[in-house]
Amino acid sequence: MALAIYNTLTRQTEPFTPLVADHVSMYVCGPTVYSDAHIGHAMSAVVFDVVRRYLEWSGYTVRHVMNFTDVDDKIIRRANEQGRDPMELAESYTLAFLDQLGQLNVLPATAYPRVSTTIPQIIQFIEGLIAKDAAYHASNGDVYFRVRADEDYGKLSRRAVDDMRSGARIAPDEAKDDPLDFALWKSAKPGEPAWESPWGQGRPGWHIECSAMSLHELAEQIDIHGGGNDLIFPHHENEIAQTESLTGKNFAQVWMHNGMLQLAGEKMSKSLGNLITIDQFLSEHSADIMRLLVLSGSYRAPLVYNDEVLADTQRKLERIMSALKPAHGTATNGPVVETLNAIVAKAPADFRAAMDSDFNSAAALAVLFDLVRSINAARDAGVGGEPFAAGQARLRELAAVLGLRLEAPSASKTDAAPFIELLIELRAELRKAKQWALSDLVRNRLSELDVQLEDSPNGTTWTTKG
Ligand SMILES: [Zn+2]
Repeated sequence: MALAIYNTLTRQTEPFTPLVADHVSMYVCGPTVYSDAHIGHAMSAVVFDVVRRYLEWSGYTVRHVMNFTDVDDKIIRRANEQGRDPMELAESYTLAFLDQLGQLNVLPATAYPRVSTTIPQIIQFIEGLIAKDAAYHASNGDVYFRVRADEDYGKLSRRAVDDMRSGARIAPDEAKDDPLDFALWKSAKPGEPAWESPWGQGRPGWHIECSAMSLHELAEQIDIHGGGNDLIFPHHENEIAQTESLTGKNFAQVWMHNGMLQLAGEKMSKSLGNLITIDQFLSEHSADIMRLLVLSGSYRAPLVYNDEVLADTQRKLERIMSALKPAHGTATNGPVVETLNAIVAKAPADFRAAMDSDFNSAAALAVLFDLVRSINAARDAGVGGEPFAAGQARLRELAAVLGLRLEAPSASKTDAAPFIELLIELRAELRKAKQWALSDLVRNRLSELDVQLEDSPNGTTWTTKG
């Protein structure tokens, strides 16, 4: 078995072989930073973080680039509405998103290029396209990509150029040679951020940034290009057209697209106003819950988000956490130990088989749940010591490949203190009444919650781990 990935370009699941042995280059389209990121953005980030973590666990060195679109109509409009500087507004949302990615346990990308820091490379790219007659400087000052010059335009989204041209939605534009042509460079308008260029003051169109950044940060040809499936057309189609027209080579080997997060049957989006921001989500739930939500389904399918799904995900996390409670027994042999050892030994291969099948994270989670069942059964049967620790270590190891932290919810000392004091008082009464079994139960259950009791002639004190 080897890794196979579904490729949107071919509509096939294909064996994956990187262009350079042991190295993977991966470019993922990032957000346009004009408002608070929502959990749809979190979904995409988590999907490609899991891809990266799995590739790294498989021995590859991954160069992972994600861009920030910090020059865009939406940013300029929002900044004007709020009386702010567009670049300052973009910067504040960029920093906020980077912080949220850290909270979500998403590994930092190798590079985070932004439009505003890539202008020379973008201009150079456009000059290259003009030199090949794949782009032209129009009478209105803009520079357009010449779609007609690209013979296989439409190959990713499987749209025929003639159908698109006759489509009613494309309005003729006097400045363009063809209504399908799209802007690479927009001439400056008053009050907008602008940069000097061979075509006068202006700013880049949206699509060109990713072609230029990918070329600059990675190479002419890359292994994986990713993003949400709402980017297939026109964004990724145009990226392919730009890059392949310039280099004459195939751009990305594999085009990976994640499904959209859906709230009440609709795609979560700013325009529909059905947003849950990442900050809102993380104020109520852990990052592991977000990750388990994503991991429980296929990354290519829509992710339905509602209270029921959320409650189900919470139960899943509790089930996994239950396996991390300490053992009380000391048995290190016998049939239960043998079963546990066998499951611990074969879990990595099962996990790999699941993930090799187009990152089937739901099947990979099933392997984790098999481990959870065996660990808990072993604890109940009095197993402890090395075999039990090995089971928990394996669970943590595989969970980490999926980016799960599995941290005990940090019940802060102040929150839990009155209840712990109450239980200690109750236990003292039980001991007075010689109810040893019950008093030991209180001590043991507290110990499972990482609260350690210490008895002394002066009474009982308690400490918590961490
Ligand atoms: Zn992009």
